[in-house]
Amino acid sequence: MAQLDTREKLAILADAAKYDASCSSSGTSKRKSSGGKGLGSTEGSGICHAYAPDGRCISLLKILLTNSCIFDCHYCINRRSSNVRRARFTAQEVVALTLSFYRRNYIEGLFLSSGIIRSSNYTMEQLVEVARSLREDHDFRGYIHLKTIPDADPELVHQAGLYADRVSINVELPTVGGLTRLAPEKSATRIEDAMGEMKTAIIDTADAKKRYKSAPRFAPAGQSTQMIVGADAATDGDIVGKAASLYGRFGLRRVYYSAFSPIPDASAVLPLQRPPLMREHRLYQSDWLMRFYDYRPDEVAAAADDATGMLPLDIDPKLAWALKFRDRFPVDVNRAPREDLLRVPGLGVKAVHSILSARRWRRLSLEDVARLTVSVAKVRPFLIADGWRPVALADRADLRPLVAPKRETQLELFAA
Ligand code: SF4
Repeated sequence: MAQLDTREKLAILADAAKYDASCSSSGTSKRKSSGGKGLGSTEGSGICHAYAPDGRCISLLKILLTNSCIFDCHYCINRRSSNVRRARFTAQEVVALTLSFYRRNYIEGLFLSSGIIRSSNYTMEQLVEVARSLREDHDFRGYIHLKTIPDADPELVHQAGLYADRVSINVELPTVGGLTRLAPEKSATRIEDAMGEMKTAIIDTADAKKRYKSAPRFAPAGQSTQMIVGADAATDGDIVGKAASLYGRFGLRRVYYSAFSPIPDASAVLPLQRPPLMREHRLYQSDWLMRFYDYRPDEVAAAADDATGMLPLDIDPKLAWALKFRDRFPVDVNRAPREDLLRVPGLGVKAVHSILSARRWRRLSLEDVARLTVSVAKVRPFLIADGWRPVALADRADLRPLVAPKRETQLELFAA
């Protein structure tokens, strides 16, 4: 490996980390001021934004320890057979970089992942050493998210949880068949075993912490994972089912969905085209329905097209479900229980909460509901209110074009 200075390594290893979505990073157009004009840059290496468990947006230094890897996962730009420029930080270089960025107030934490070098245990030792040194040698109190290596010794993975706020292990692909085909050196069983061990350790430590103040903290921000969408033949129904099973069995805080993007020098087994980004977005909306709107996974999957198993791209999954199960509507805004109101397209969790509070004192009209939603046109066919009853709208064959947004606005995403 050629001798590189820290700035060159940072450029390579921050760029290599951008494919990992499990720390939600923001994207924007490229702007810089290094030519002496203006102030600021959107091209600074390695800083991304993530959301802390309390909802704060925090800046993280997001890098790989190295982009060299002994594995050859077809979808990964860092795979063994990929012809990319390689770089590697030492653990102490990452520690120094984190501290220096932190002192300058550039970041509030570190997101660290790595290709596998020499062996899973050796790589995990290096990742743990970064977190250990930050916490013990420098009393670093910022946020740390460590990617763990599923094949590593469970004791090393456990140590990662003792130093990090959040740990994550990528399941990579929604089906075992997809993983076997595209990441033949990885094992779905070993990945899930590691998640199971992590879940047990998180629960045990949380219990101990309730009883003994001195009990060590362990991954207080929990564990998360990432699934690549569109690299294999898995349908949206498969992906929703897998995500629900992961949430249920391993108590994950988040499942991240990352639309597969074709990489330079790609393997011939990969699709030539990326899936529409809207597909990733619809999966995040489905995830939202399961986590905050009390939909069962099979209900979300039922919103998909029966023949293809794919969620529609032109409308959100909640609207798709409502159009398919019209017998569940209209819902009476003045009498329906919370779970039925949450099913009404256009009513978000906050709007339902406001409706439940307000109707204790008076009956609500459609105008009252209109103040709580960004699209009353979307709500009207599905709701009964004081002075309003839809006239057989739910039976109309042309209902879909009437309620489908012309262009989905940012606010509509939160009023799904
Ligand atoms: S193990 Fe990770 S870094 Fe290595 S090729 Fe597979 S996905 Fe890429």
